[in-house]
This record gives sequence, C-alpha cells and structure tokens, in this order.
Amino acid sequence: MYRYYRYNILVFILLLSLIQHVFPARILPPISPPEFPINLSANATWHTFSKFTNAGKGASFSGMSELKKYFQRFGYLDNFSDTFSDTFDDEFESVVLKYQKKMGIPVTGRLDSGTVSQIMLPRCGVSDYITRKHKIIHVSKKYAFFDGEPRWRQTSKTENLMLTYAFSDGHMIDYISYSEIRDVFQRSFGRWASTIPVNFTEVDDYRTADIKIAFYGGDHGDGEPFDGVLGVLAHAFSPENGRLHFDTAETWAVDFGSTGSNVAIDLESVATHEIGHILGLAHSSVKEAVMYPSLGPRIRKVDLKMDDVKGIQTLYGSNPNFRYTPSMESDISSGYRPVRGEWVKWVTLLVLLVGVLVC
Ligand SMILES: [Zn+2]
Ligand SMILES: [Zn+2]
Repeated sequence: MYRYYRYNILVFILLLSLIQHVFPARILPPISPPEFPINLSANATWHTFSKFTNAGKGASFSGMSELKKYFQRFGYLDNFSDTFSDTFDDEFESVVLKYQKKMGIPVTGRLDSGTVSQIMLPRCGVSDYITRKHKIIHVSKKYAFFDGEPRWRQTSKTENLMLTYAFSDGHMIDYISYSEIRDVFQRSFGRWASTIPVNFTEVDDYRTADIKIAFYGGDHGDGEPFDGVLGVLAHAFSPENGRLHFDTAETWAVDFGSTGSNVAIDLESVATHEIGHILGLAHSSVKEAVMYPSLGPRIRKVDLKMDDVKGIQTLYGSNPNFRYTPSMESDISSGYRPVRGEWVKWVTLLVLLVGVLVC
C-alpha cells in the first residue's frame, strides 16, 4: 500500500513537471498600445479635464461647461447654445454614455478615470456624430461614412479612379525635410490604394490638385481653428472637398528615435487617418482601426485594419490585387482561436491523466 502511494506521488510530480512543457506559457491577448498618461503634458489642450475624474450624475464642478463644449464640438450634443451649466445632469449622462459607446470603452455613464483619459487624448478634429452643424454621419456597426455617403467619382473613362494631391507652397513645416514628408504621404496613400481601385499621384499645382495638404496654426479660415499643443491634431473634409490640414503647433515626427519630445505625434499615422476622411470614411469605434478618432503622443498606428478595409471597399469596391494579411485583424475581430497542433497538448495531458488513474 505504502509503495503504491509513493509511486502515485512520483507520477503526480512527473505530471506537474510535464505540464510546464506541454503548456509552456499562457496565451495572452495582443498588447494594446500604452495609454496616454493624464499628466503627460501640463500644457496640453484639455489637460484640465482631469479634475472631473469620478464625477457622476448630480455632481457640480466649476468648469464642467467646458467639457460640455468639448462634447458639443465633437457631435455629442445637438445643442447650439454657447452657455452650459456646470452640473452633471440627465442630458450630460446620456452624452457620456453615447461617448463611451462610440469610443469602445466601458459604458458606465460616469466620468471614470478611463473615460477622462480618453477625453484628454489628442484626436482628430472631425466630428464623431451628426449634428445640424456637422453634416455627419451615417453610422454602421463599426466603420462609418459621412451623411449621404459621399465619395470621389470618376471624371474620365480610365480603368481606375485617379486622384491628384499636392502640398501647399507657403504652409508647410521646415523641421522635417520635404522629401521625408513626400515619402510619408506616398506610403500613406499607398495603403489605401492597395485596398481600392484608386490611384494617387503627386502633382506640383496645389490650386488644381484634388487633395490639398497644408499645415496651419490657430484660426485658418475654414471655421475649424486649431487649438495649440495636442488637443486637435488635424482635420480633413469629406469628398469631394479634398482639404487636409495639420496643426502646426504639434511636434510632428517621422521617426521617434530622433525626436525626444514626449508630445511628438507620428505624422504618418495622422496622414493615413486623414486620407480616410478625404476618401469618405468617418470615425470608427474599433480602437485598433486607423479611423479611430484619437491617437496618443509617440504612438505609431499606420496599418489598416479589416474595419478600415471593409469601410473603404464598401465605398469604392476592392482593388483586384488586394490581399488580406493577418496584421489587418484587430483585437475585436480576431479573438482567441486554438492554434494548429494544440490538440496534441490536450491528448498528451489526457494520456498522462489516464496513466495516473491506472497507477
Ligand atoms: Zn478623424
Ligand atoms: Zn483647416
């Protein structure tokens, strides 16, 4: 009897040591980009909103009207009053709920720390929802279009739609070379061109180009003034307007290795996003999608996800050479799937267990 138990314990220890080899590591979900810390820049636009953390219905805070203006600006309040109360009322709760749903974050109806961090993140200036002022947006499940689903139309009988783009003569930045900026945009346009039957060509004549790229600071005459460091980074207009503007107050970067600033923004990520607007996509609720509204400093997000691809192909059809790649999957669309060969592990474990029982 004693020998029987001793033998059983030995098998159990052997089993435990084998399990480590059979299951070498826990399969973890893909790592999300780091969140933007609330106190990253005390001078950044919207940094004062951190004082509203944990506010819920009934709370009253001096300055909460500014937060209401923020939501009004991005299409969450269909209200054109310039004056708002500082109280967290029923209407404001419904605004917070709508925002949390759109951003794909936990829907609590409170200004929990995750929600406030999200609000403070730098973002695109294009509105998230339809209001009487901003003629946006037909919302699908995840990707979205502008109201009426505008897109560029073919003017000649060429096989593919041809769009030209040009850079402004007088409104560019000088700390990144012109050739580097051209390369950034060539790659950004190329990503969209690989999914849809549209060709993009750089031309010299800014005046006649379909897509006009420029850097502006503050009020620059289109009714959408920029706001300084972080806050709104850039904006673009729906088809077939073609204007694409970047905020000169940002520290634009093409390579974080050579840019030490903690508020540096990746030019290529923002360019790829804004070209999506130029082509007719509005904001997506899929966090990993290029068309998600916000982007933290020092984060690079240039790869189109399936949500972006499905949205743009709904408008323009598919490029015949389009090829799906696994990098297009996002956390939401991929999920966990057992990998090939995993059944071998389960069979091994089962055999070991049977072995213990027989012993
Ligand atoms: Zn945008
Ligand atoms: Zn503008």
